[in-house]
Amino acid sequence: MKEHRRTALAVHGGAGTISRKEMTPVREKAYREGLLDGLRAGQDVLLQGGSAIDAVEAAVRRLEDCPHFNAGRGSVFNADGQHEMDASVMRGDTLEAGAVASVQNVKNPITLARRVMEKSPHVLISGLGAFEFAHQEKITLEDDQYFFDQFRYDQWQRTKGTDVYQLDHSDDDRKFGTVGAVALDREGMLAAATSTGGMTNKRWQRIGDSPLIGAGTYANNASCAVSCTGHGESFIRAVAAYDVHALMLYKGLSLEEAVHEVVHKKLPPLDGDGGLIAVDREGRIVLDMNCSGMYRGWTDEHGELHTAIFKD
Ligand code: ASP
Repeated sequence: MKEHRRTALAVHGGAGTISRKEMTPVREKAYREGLLDGLRAGQDVLLQGGSAIDAVEAAVRRLEDCPHFNAGRGSVFNADGQHEMDASVMRGDTLEAGAVASVQNVKNPITLARRVMEKSPHVLISGLGAFEFAHQEKITLEDDQYFFDQFRYDQWQRTKGTDVYQLDHSDDDRKFGTVGAVALDREGMLAAATSTGGMTNKRWQRIGDSPLIGAGTYANNASCAVSCTGHGESFIRAVAAYDVHALMLYKGLSLEEAVHEVVHKKLPPLDGDGGLIAVDREGRIVLDMNCSGMYRGWTDEHGELHTAIFKD
């Protein structure tokens, strides 16, 4: 097997209309620390020769544990004042994938998604059934209090009882959240993972793009690994993550060109505000968005860690 000496890792903590004037130095530091924490967790795995799938799970678990991001612990409130979470993982070598939708009280939905991939004959399970599976697999559960966050609660109170549903992280009514990771390991395996609390005040067990393979998450060793964040309905209609792969494979575009096409040409006409992170099989990383910011972090070719928030 060809040894790829370069490993690569990127993470995101959601994209949206992130305003500079709302961003205090304290908040900015907290977000950057959260991203670095996720990066370190994933990079530790890769540097020890671990696999890309272990790396993306480790990175996303850390981001799920951080209350600043809309996933796991920091998940937003739905219309019933509860937390319903979606997550998915995919490995680029075998194209195996696992996902969960509308799960409650699961500390790390990404680990449950991986368990679906490895221990069930299915790709996507949801709601109470997923909870039963989590129980069977002895996945760590937490009570509602663990997921309570005053900031998220106040955010929900502003929309409660209305028809307005919101994505996270913005100052107007277009809010985004979600976390994700993509990685390339030493053996050349690509993997992607995405996890979210979805939209504030969502109803009817609404499910976004994050747990849908091809929409919010995709990995294929033939091309790239992708994790998306943004207006889920649009990303589903654009089959955004898979489209990056398809543009590379069938049209011969580079990762940068393929991401540009999806983020700036295909998504905007579908009202698809947001962004994505992607890595190709050479370890090139692209982090792009069509809105003012995306919480993001990446490793460079020297193994240094970087974070950024705003588009420019
Ligand atoms: N894409 C996620 C969803 O629609 C939300 C986000 O990325 O902020 O559920």
